[in-house]
Amino acid sequence: MSARESIIPVFVPHLGCPNDCVFCNQRRISGSQQPATAEDVKKAIEKAAALLPPGAKRQLAFYGGSFTAIPVPEQLSLLAAAKEEMDRGRIQSIRLSTRPDAIDGTALRRLRDYGVETIELGAQSMDEEVLLLSGRGHTAKDVETASRLIKDWGFRLILQMMTGLPGDTPEKSVETARRIAALKPDGVRIDPTVIVRDTALFDLWQAGRYKEHTVEDAVETCALLLPVFEHAGIPVIRLGLNPTDELSGGAAAGGAYHPALGELVKSRIMYGRARSLLAGTKPGSRIVLEVGKGKRSQMTGQRRRNIEALCGEFGLREMKIKESDTNTQEIKIFSVENPEDI
Ligand code: SF4
Repeated sequence: MSARESIIPVFVPHLGCPNDCVFCNQRRISGSQQPATAEDVKKAIEKAAALLPPGAKRQLAFYGGSFTAIPVPEQLSLLAAAKEEMDRGRIQSIRLSTRPDAIDGTALRRLRDYGVETIELGAQSMDEEVLLLSGRGHTAKDVETASRLIKDWGFRLILQMMTGLPGDTPEKSVETARRIAALKPDGVRIDPTVIVRDTALFDLWQAGRYKEHTVEDAVETCALLLPVFEHAGIPVIRLGLNPTDELSGGAAAGGAYHPALGELVKSRIMYGRARSLLAGTKPGSRIVLEVGKGKRSQMTGQRRRNIEALCGEFGLREMKIKESDTNTQEIKIFSVENPEDI
């Protein structure tokens, strides 16, 4: 998908899922109660046509279920409706999400025949214990086998991973990120665990058998993951669940639900980089840090959190941030005034 392509989501909540994974309630997450029909596909595209600017590229996305595990006649009905719209030029591509154990040559041939371009595969973790405790019902090997097959068939592959699942640790998440990066997907989605009402995870949490993965926990862990994907040249297309009225209205009962989680994580990474850079700075100094274009607020942190933490830790008299005119990820010390010069 190009950066200027708009996604038209069509939800098929839990269709094809052999069971409910402990953290998942797609009716709550997507806000859609009923799975879409072929008629809904056409309506969603018509609605988007009225809202999007003429000429905008559109990708139809079947989300919220295990598409390739849906009974074949239903798959064909949805795919045929989407393909018809693609042939009429009202959408340019089709995307869908599914499970690793629901991928084989027959399923992929079907998707190719109907013009599907991108497959999002829910890996969630590459740790067997985490997969088991989360009720996923597949193994890490299934993720590897399915990913290779999807790429061999020429589809774009997006892998989804989660942090903070039952039995998970930051170390396991980093290992999951490394194994996912080794599969060379075209992009990655990271979803720190949110405790959604009407899920087994909500009950475990209420019973004191699951420790909440807080926003702070997610920021700490994800700050370790983004560099793994960055070094591998794999874009992270989304970090954190998309905020919805349903989730914000109370369906997200706990866990890492924050509308700007990605920004918090980038800000934490910049804090760590600045901290290394400032080692050895004399207390009482005045510092100006230079960051890339548009990165000032990430470096400053929400409510100046990074600046205050760095000033406190290094005993600085003042810290200012200056933006350079290049798109660099680097942070530099632009100027230092030592206490004896002030
Ligand atoms: S996480 Fe995926 S496979 Fe599991 S219940 Fe939700 S939609 Fe189905």
